[in-house]
Amino acid sequence: MTNIVLQLSSDQQNSVKSSYASYQVERKAPGVVFAAKLSDVTITIYKSGKVMFQGGGAQREASKFGEVTVNTSVVSQTTTNQSIKTKGDTLPLNFAQRSVIGSDETGTGDYFGPITVAAVYVPSDKIQLIQELGVKDSKMLTDAKMVEMAPDIMASCTYSILTLRNEKYNEIQSKGYSQGKIKAMLHNKALKHVLDKIAPKKPEYILIDQFAERETYYKHIQNQKEIVRENVLFSTKAEQLHVSVAAASILARYAFLKEMDQLSEKAGVRLQKGASGIVDKMAAQIWLNKGEEFLHSISKWHFANTEKARVLVNKKK
Ligand code: MG
Repeated sequence: MTNIVLQLSSDQQNSVKSSYASYQVERKAPGVVFAAKLSDVTITIYKSGKVMFQGGGAQREASKFGEVTVNTSVVSQTTTNQSIKTKGDTLPLNFAQRSVIGSDETGTGDYFGPITVAAVYVPSDKIQLIQELGVKDSKMLTDAKMVEMAPDIMASCTYSILTLRNEKYNEIQSKGYSQGKIKAMLHNKALKHVLDKIAPKKPEYILIDQFAERETYYKHIQNQKEIVRENVLFSTKAEQLHVSVAAASILARYAFLKEMDQLSEKAGVRLQKGASGIVDKMAAQIWLNKGEEFLHSISKWHFANTEKARVLVNKKK
């Protein structure tokens, strides 16, 4: 299937809308502002201004509104894969072009805010589209850019996002769950969700951005009711190996940032990411203003920041 994405101005988007007004269809996906279906092409306009043409007639229709260039990023991604130094499983040939569910997490090193995990299914016929939406290694994207891109990914792919809020995190952490175990449980659950959503279809592979060796990962989740095992691969830097992991990493970040916005509002201060000395000072200030219980409810309480903040609080008392 051909996928073409054009970035259009609002005037150009309006002309797309009026051209296909009589073909308009209802699409309730997040981020979609207009959708139309012709016999051989569907047209989707996203909030971000990206307009997607999908199907055999994509090139014909897209070329009415913008310059259509042949995408070569697919080829370059495949060839650069060989030069990425990673740890983990050896991947099958042409892995970047396979149908894969990827998963990744974020928030694990941040004192404030949740841990979030996302899994995204990108079948081979959507890889080019996802690349054209701008999905790439999330370390090369700003938070603002990821927030802008997330709705486009959600509108075009099957995904699952899990947000483990601080109350729950602190509860299970204090029962002795390690971060590794917590992460493994969340990855397993997100992957299961996506598998359920796409069934009876199956991905060729599942790729987890590796945070633990395979053995450790499965030990962590050995007591779970359902354990995803089939065709599961692990690799570090996995977001560079398949766009599904890059997309998952963007959605996880998006969910983390959204939760941070809400927590910041409750705290009355823009919460600092990470776990630096600035975080200690901010935590102490929140402790003084809103009390220990409130701070507990927005932080990963077992981090060293808590004791550092306690010292600061006691000095000020
Ligand atoms: Mg990761």
